[in-house]
Amino acid sequence: MEVTTAFGNEDAAAMVAELRRNFASGKTRSYEWRVTQLKKIVKMVEERESEIVDALRSDLNKPAFESVVYEISMLKSSCKVALKELKQWMKPQKVKTTIVAFPSSAEIVAEPLGVVLVISAWNYPILLSLDPVVGAIAAGNAVVLKPSEIAPATSSLLAKYVKEYLDNSAVRVVEGAVPETSALLEQKWDKIFYTGNGRVARVVMSAAAKYLTPVVLELGGKSPVIVDPDVNLKISVRRIIAGKWGCNNGQACISPDYIVTTKEFAPKLVDTLKRELERFYGSDPLQSNDLSRIVNSNHFDRLERLLDEDKVAGKIVHGGQRDKAQLKIAPTLLRDVPLDSLMMTEEIFGPLLPIITVDKLEDSYEIIMSRAKPLAAYLFTNRKDMKNQFVKTVSAGGLVINDSAIHLTVHGLPFGGVEESGTGSYHGKFSFDAFSHKKAVLYRSFMGDAFVRYPPYTHGKMRL
Ligand code: NAD
Repeated sequence: MEVTTAFGNEDAAAMVAELRRNFASGKTRSYEWRVTQLKKIVKMVEERESEIVDALRSDLNKPAFESVVYEISMLKSSCKVALKELKQWMKPQKVKTTIVAFPSSAEIVAEPLGVVLVISAWNYPILLSLDPVVGAIAAGNAVVLKPSEIAPATSSLLAKYVKEYLDNSAVRVVEGAVPETSALLEQKWDKIFYTGNGRVARVVMSAAAKYLTPVVLELGGKSPVIVDPDVNLKISVRRIIAGKWGCNNGQACISPDYIVTTKEFAPKLVDTLKRELERFYGSDPLQSNDLSRIVNSNHFDRLERLLDEDKVAGKIVHGGQRDKAQLKIAPTLLRDVPLDSLMMTEEIFGPLLPIITVDKLEDSYEIIMSRAKPLAAYLFTNRKDMKNQFVKTVSAGGLVINDSAIHLTVHGLPFGGVEESGTGSYHGKFSFDAFSHKKAVLYRSFMGDAFVRYPPYTHGKMRL
């Protein structure tokens, strides 16, 4: 697949300067421009659906179901929410004033930030590229999208069709890898929205610091799942499978990373997981058409390193089959993996699922909270006290009780991490807010001028 490589500092500077001129013309601020562009995104993904599905098949062997449901439909749903709510979001929001400012009125005016950069990741390369762009456009900005070079078919499709469908005077795609992204990061942006890993997030944040550019960092982490024995086991297991292997074969930022359950309950849980996995993916899952492959050989090698570490030897209780030539790894369950192993200290981001056991379920919290705060955390239980304790105790980007991964479909919930799993959030109105400046505006009248605020500052005035 062809990737534009001749894109250096000067090209990036010229492009940003042009976008700044176009932004300054005011065209992107109008409600009509925003609505037109959002509708064109919907039109683009509807008309190009089969090409998108093919590109995702080529980059990840992503099943068409997952491409349509989790990438295209979710993107369309974001656009539809923005189209429906935009007028309301753009309206200045009245706030109460104080006696000190009497008489006056006050409002918060949302204004676009200017020219913003979106750097996206490979695992949901349509959704993670265009969903932030929806927010940037809804808020009235000019935007440059840099898709991930690790999903090259999708990257080139985005470059082609964004150019064809959207207003190129304000919306651009730059393809490329580290050199092109570095050239982009040299420029002054009004916001940088980055999705990917924490190492590169530090590069992004350092580049942003040079111009005091605000950032949104959508990162990952080890998202735990606590399974209480008091639970509907079959439904719980199915929902864990859907959030793990049913989302890009575990290559998802909110994928269940490890399970914690009691020693007593673990055999029952493992048996049910095995049975349902076999029901969904057959007895030879490497042949299943319903599982994405591992994106490339680097990530395949990374997952093999986790599996082949000495500390993990003999811990596989299900799966473990792999085929490097086809970049496939079967859904794999492991039991009692040491907490200091690579598998339990690094984000797995693949089809491996360790099951950790504890004497009492309450002991899960120490395991979870001794690690970096994850992007998501899941609990399966019927017990109300357990739910309350979980919400009170666990700090993560988002929590889901009795399901996994599904919270990102709820537009009213902010989607983002905390500490190492990211900063800032988006989805629904949060996307609009992420790309807006909330300008404080106070309207005073010339009436009721309080002489007390002017010198001379007498003792009596101070006590008034
Ligand atoms: P990636 O390799 O596609 O990298 C992300 C982006 O960073 C790409 O556009 C890439 O070109 C750019 N990049 C890479 N190296 C760079 C450098 N040195 N300088 C500047 N830019 C550089 O994606 P990835 O990081 O492998 O993605 C996986 C990670 O992302 C996981 O940790 C996952 O949890 C996280 N993730 C988070 C979300 C979320 O919404 N929070 C979504 C998907 C993935």
